[in-house]
Amino acid sequence: MKLATFTEGGRTRIGVVEDDRIADVSAVDPSIPADMTAFLKLGPAGRAALDRALASAPRRPLAEVRLEAPVLRPGKFLAVGLNFADHIKELGAATPAFPSTFAKTTSCINGPYDPVHRPRVSDTLDYEGELGMVIGRRCRHVPKERALEVVAGYVVVNDLTVREWVNLTPQVVIPKSFDTTGPFGPWITTADAVPDPQALAIRTTVNGEIRQSSSTAEMIFGCADLIALLSQAVTLEPGDVITTGTPPGVGEGFAPKRYLQPGDVVRVEIDGLGHIENPVIAEPQATCFIED
Ligand code: MG
Repeated sequence: MKLATFTEGGRTRIGVVEDDRIADVSAVDPSIPADMTAFLKLGPAGRAALDRALASAPRRPLAEVRLEAPVLRPGKFLAVGLNFADHIKELGAATPAFPSTFAKTTSCINGPYDPVHRPRVSDTLDYEGELGMVIGRRCRHVPKERALEVVAGYVVVNDLTVREWVNLTPQVVIPKSFDTTGPFGPWITTADAVPDPQALAIRTTVNGEIRQSSSTAEMIFGCADLIALLSQAVTLEPGDVITTGTPPGVGEGFAPKRYLQPGDVVRVEIDGLGHIENPVIAEPQATCFIED
């Protein structure tokens, strides 16, 4: 099942994507939460209500609605760096014994097809195509063998990064949290439709040119490892998003470096999960303000 958050007629709510249409489930059952996190918190009861509503929900053409990030404002947006064996080989780095974890702020989240801003303070905006997990069950200290039970589903993420700021500070949180630099989606492909998250082809293109092409089989710390480890530290909650690291081919790795420029279109696709595609624009003047 493909669970989306969409806006139509001035209202944002969840729906189910079927081919080129979206089922407007809350039109037949207003008790289904409009917000994805609230829906995921309902667990199996929510899914049962959704399945019942699907039988008679009106279908709208996907082209006539606006798809939003499936979780608009997760409680946590966690991330992992240096997690692809082929990427580490490319860098000549040592294989880490412990995952390099960090967080992106949730204010950087952006829609699957929305513009990303080349920041006014730097021209070193770079892409990182990644597989993301959306948590469906509140949990702590999850053993690896049960870890995938807490995953509601999977998403395509672009962990956009301002490289210049990475080099200015040992902390990557802010370089990876510029406004608009966290697009993901286009929907949550539920875990029951993803038999093996470690066997998914992933590709990133810029203006149609392939820059990254790998498989989640290359991940050093797989989805289950990451949930087991992160849940040793923090309670994972429905709606939390964990993005799992990028394969080789980022713009930083080219000589000369190939950062994103206004006018570029960056696309990340994962087999079975769909794609996100974001145009790059110069950061607009409108972002410069102080509210009363
Ligand atoms: Mg990354």
